[in-house]
This record gives sequence, structure tokens and C-alpha cells, in this order.
Amino acid sequence: MFKKVLIANRGEIALRIIRACRELGVQTVAVYSEADRESLHVRFADDDVCIGPAPARDSYLKIPRLIAAAEITGADAIHPGYGFLAENAEFAEIVTASNLAFIGPTAEQIRVMGDKAAARKAMTAVGVPIVPGTPGPVEDVDEALDFAKRMGFPVIIKAAAGGGGKGMRVAKDADDFARSFQLARSEALSAFGNGDVYVEKYLMRPRHIEFQIMGDKFGNVIHLGERDCSVQRRHQKLIEESPSPAMTPDLRKRMGDAAVAGAKAIEYVGAGTIEMLLDEDGSFYFMEMNTRIQVEHPVTEMITGIDLVKEQIRVAAGERLSVLEMPPLRGHVIECRVNAEDPNRNFQPSPGKIHTFHPPGGNGVRLDTHVYAGYTVPPFYDSMIAKVICQGRDRPEALAKMRLALETFIIEGPMTTIPFLARVMQNPRFQSGDVDTKFLEREPDLMKEPG
Ligand code: ADP
Repeated sequence: MFKKVLIANRGEIALRIIRACRELGVQTVAVYSEADRESLHVRFADDDVCIGPAPARDSYLKIPRLIAAAEITGADAIHPGYGFLAENAEFAEIVTASNLAFIGPTAEQIRVMGDKAAARKAMTAVGVPIVPGTPGPVEDVDEALDFAKRMGFPVIIKAAAGGGGKGMRVAKDADDFARSFQLARSEALSAFGNGDVYVEKYLMRPRHIEFQIMGDKFGNVIHLGERDCSVQRRHQKLIEESPSPAMTPDLRKRMGDAAVAGAKAIEYVGAGTIEMLLDEDGSFYFMEMNTRIQVEHPVTEMITGIDLVKEQIRVAAGERLSVLEMPPLRGHVIECRVNAEDPNRNFQPSPGKIHTFHPPGGNGVRLDTHVYAGYTVPPFYDSMIAKVICQGRDRPEALAKMRLALETFIIEGPMTTIPFLARVMQNPRFQSGDVDTKFLEREPDLMKEPG
């Protein structure tokens, strides 16, 4: 086992990793920007190093500073968390070249799955269905338009290096196409430094269903069930649950087998997620693989009872997976992401000082957060400030618990998405499980604050 792990991240995920390390008897190193001096991850880690000013590009994304921090503090491994450098193949390479263990997959695995066009190719090779689309990136607008016409509109133009919903454009028809194509290309170039795009059929009412994968260095690869992440705003997840209301044992077997086959094809090691779209007609398609721990991992932890972060650390240290198949799922689990955002201002970030903080609690309620009364949410990073995860014997119980948890979760200071999430819990359509990625577009009133 490692002696000391440096956590190349901040916020709730840094705290989450510190907890896992502590339980394993491993020491921790926190790194922080000048804006995060008062953060709990700094307080709870055994060692801490300031790595630069507030903007992430000058601190959390500065590879040489992270490596230097690991060397000064005597760390022997780095956990990247999610976001920042978690899916940066070059970072994984430099960490390994510096004689440190990277708690994650290999640089090569990150590279293949980080290029959506390459990932689609790898999946097709092992018979995993992918959304119909161009085999690789297309440069020429006329060639792309030809392809779109043959496939049928609407289509979605996606950045090969995409992530976080950036560089994606939907084209409704041929007239709309050229503009969307150029926009997607320039957005991709500025966001990812790579203007490659490909064209995919746009599904009208899909569910986003993803499978949690774990692999070890002995060639074992398993899945730990699915998460349904269909409640999204601008292609970003807001609520995740397991099991999916759309799941049957047969569908789980077919989708799960495909997910495992895809991960096995690249001999995947560590925690990863195979994201798929489930169409109205029951067809499912591979969308992408995320080669890291995910924001919504607690859903799987509660439903399976497996600590995914400890499992990640153990596997990176050369241990075998602690289970070799999906354990029985325990009831129903749902997660809500709480963001410091102002619903009255189109969900713009609402940073600032938290005056009052009362966390939800009770049987089957988990809260992952880094904020506290007196903490100031800085404007420089992601606006997510907490995740509430609730487990019930069945879906209605989990939803009722979540509603109560949200209604008794008090944060005063910044505006938050708590009231919005509580409204979703009471929405009849959501309660009946009739959800797809366009759910919020069809229920626009949920986005409005009453009065
Ligand atoms: P990113 O890497 O930016 O997160 P993804 O490829 O994971 O992008 O897609 C994010 C979301 O965009 C999906 O969950 C889904 O809502 C929507 N989406 C992506 N591809 C399609 C498609 N072909 N048809 C319909 N919706 C799509």
C-alpha cells in the first residue's frame, strides 16, 4: 500500500479522497490555491502545499508544481479526483515518469477514451453499439453535410476531444448545418485546442444511462450496475439514481455486458464509467467512457456497499478487486447536486459567504460537501457545493427521503439550487420515472422560482 497520497484537487472530492486514505491508513497531502487557504481539505490532510494563485491554470492545472509538491512532501502516489487533470494523459505520463503512482488508468487508456472518435472505433471493434455517425472526424463541411443527409436530421456535431457539454451543437436540418458545424469546430478549438468534430445521429428522447466499471491489474473487469443521469440542464447532470427506472434484469445484462466488453477491450484498470444512451425503442448506444472517478459515484457506493475510492487506491497499489461481480443492489439510491447558482438569473453562479449552514441527516442520508458556516464560496471554480444522496427501500421512499433532506437543508448566503431540486422531487412525471434528457425542457416551470 502507498505511504502518502497527494490529492491534485479541491472541494468535496478532495475531502472524499482524504477519508478513503485515512481508512486505509495512508497519509495525505493537500494542495491548494491562494483562494482555497481556508478549505477543509487543507485542514484535514496530513501535509499541505500552496501551489499558486486562484485561477486553476495557475495552480490546480500546473503539472510541475504538483510534481514538486509530491517530491517535497514525500508522497508516493497522486490521486487526480475528477475535473482538472483527471483525464489528462500527459499528466498521468509525467506522474509515472516521476516515479509516482497515478491512481487511475494508464496514460494510453486515457488517451484512447479521451478521443471520442478513437473510442468509438475501439468500441465498434468489440461489437459494442455506438450512436450511428461518421466513423472518424470530418473536416470538410460538404462531406459532413452529405453524411448528415444520408443519416437523417437532426444530427449532433461533437468535439472529438469534448467534455462537459462543450463543443456540441445540434443541427435540425440542412439549412442549419453549415453554421452549427463551424460553431462546433471553433468552440472545440478554443475549449480543447483541437478542432476535430464528428457527426452523430441526434436521439430525440434518450435516457442517459451509465455503468460503473472497476478493473484491476490482473485482468479482472466488472461493472457495478447503472446510474440513470437523465435529469440534465444544458447536457449537464443534475440528478442521478440507481437502479434506472427503465431497467430490467435483461436490459441490465445486455448493457452491462457491452460496458464490460468495452472496458476489457482496452484492459481497463481502475474506476471508469461507460456512458450510454438508451433510445425510446430500447436500443442502446455507447457514448463515451470517462476514465476517472465520477461526481455521482456515491450512488453506486450506497446501492452496492462498495467504497469506490478505496477500491481505486487498492487497485493502483496492485491489489485485486475486492469483488468479482456486482453485489445485490440495496433498494433505491438518488443523488442531487447542489450548486451555488441563482435560479432567478438563469442559474448563473452565485458565489459568496455562507452565513448559515444546517446539513440534512437521518437514516439513509449521505452528504458530501466541503462547505460550512463562515465559508466563502470562491468564484473561480465549479459551482457545485454539495451532493445529497438518499437511500430508500424503493424509489418512492428514496424520493420522499430526498424531498425531506432538501427541505431541511439550510444554506443562507449564496443562492442555491436546493428549492429547484425539491420541486423536481414533487413533480408527477419525475415521480413516475418518465424521464429523459429533455425532461426539464418539457417541464420549464420547474426552473422558475415561485413568486
Ligand atoms: P460531454 O463529454 O461533453 O459530457 P457527452 O457525449 O457525454 O458529452 O454527452 C452529454 C449529453 O449530451 C448526454 O448525456 C446527452 O444528454 C446529450 N447527447 C450526447 N449525444 C447525443 C445524441 N447523439 N443524441 C441525443 N443526445 C445526446
